Amino acid sequence: MALSDCNTPMLNPLRITLDTGSESCINRYPPTCEWRESVCISIRRLQHREAIPETRMKHGVALVGPPLAICIGLFATGAPISRSIIRIALYLMKFLGFFRLARQITRHGLRIICYHGFAVAEEYKYRSTLFIRDDFFRKRVEYLKRERYPILPLRDALDALAAGRLPPCATVITMDDGWRGVHTVGLPIIRELEIPVTVYVTTYYVENPMPVFTVTVSYLFWRATPQLVHLPRGIGTFDLECEAAKAEEAAQNFGAALPPGDRLEFLKELAVALDISFYDIESQHLFEVMDEQQLRDLAAAGVDIQLHSHRHQWPLYDREMVESEIAENRRFLQRAVSYPLEHFCYPSGVYGLHQAEWLAELGVKSATTIDPGLNYSHTSRFALRRLVDGGPVSDIEFAAEMTGFMELVRLLRRRLRAARDMTARWRVYRDKGRPSSTPTESRP
Ligand SMILES: [Zn+2]
Repeated sequence: MALSDCNTPMLNPLRITLDTGSESCINRYPPTCEWRESVCISIRRLQHREAIPETRMKHGVALVGPPLAICIGLFATGAPISRSIIRIALYLMKFLGFFRLARQITRHGLRIICYHGFAVAEEYKYRSTLFIRDDFFRKRVEYLKRERYPILPLRDALDALAAGRLPPCATVITMDDGWRGVHTVGLPIIRELEIPVTVYVTTYYVENPMPVFTVTVSYLFWRATPQLVHLPRGIGTFDLECEAAKAEEAAQNFGAALPPGDRLEFLKELAVALDISFYDIESQHLFEVMDEQQLRDLAAAGVDIQLHSHRHQWPLYDREMVESEIAENRRFLQRAVSYPLEHFCYPSGVYGLHQAEWLAELGVKSATTIDPGLNYSHTSRFALRRLVDGGPVSDIEFAAEMTGFMELVRLLRRRLRAARDMTARWRVYRDKGRPSSTPTESRP
């Protein structure tokens, strides 16, 4: 079991299958399955994040190459565009008034922003989306206030959306996982700026306090400097110059099978093997989640605490495990809060629309994804879209998402794809229907 930024190795069946081959994973789903495409999209997104470390973020802007290319007439090439060119193009669009226009067009869309944890030391250098800096968050909230985006509590926003009385450009702020920094760094800012925030908390590490295993292992390998390492417990000897990924995978797999107490010991042994001080990690409380008292503090301060599964696992077809994840998660969180826990965030952003019925029967009223986009009255309450923000997202990219400019770019991209597919199908149909003109075939 593991917890992460919703995109690192979790003991997630889908993820494990991905490690062994994504095509076989995709093909396991019934071809007629309605939500097959959404699963495949999630798989592709996971693969992309794994392939490019700095874009582990789940943000549409990071993957914006092709859609923006459409806007500036480079679609035919289909080539990825460098991020600096994208940013320059966005500034140009803003200067030309497209951002203002997009905001007007998309004003009925609910914006739900997704953050994760706050950096308590310098771990933002390791994963700048997973652990944002306090000044980054403050700057974002000040932008939202200055640009008059009404920040609403999640449940109020969803009620207003359903009733058709959502204020223009209404915005909700959410934070995933329940990292310790949300209490120690984020809460004073939340109090000072008086903003409503929903924190989706996963509870396994509340029950078993220790640094989150998968994230800590990745961090240890990220910081490791020795070239040749002997991993503990006979895992093997690896040359990190060329086998770092293999070594990390072996350590992750070994530790995942250990009970919590032994897993902590294994982390310490791994730190020694990689020549990193585990004392520093423990003394700075790096990669820890909030404890029960900190959750109570958050709730007492008016922060909305909601569901995120117990083990950060979310199998697509195992209904029994899904029910158990919600039940255990709810049981732990109910110790800290007195209100009903009825809003949920899919761990790792993987979901199937067939699960809406399961969640509804468990008393869940909404579920957020990491699909980028805005939410309208017709958007499924069990597939709410979010805008994932973090260190790699520049101010202009954030503004492009918040104004709805990127929403329009995505819409345009979908329309162009549909038109292209239709043209391709029409060509196939035309070619099949055309009589052969070769002399041999036309002869009676
Ligand atoms: Zn998560």
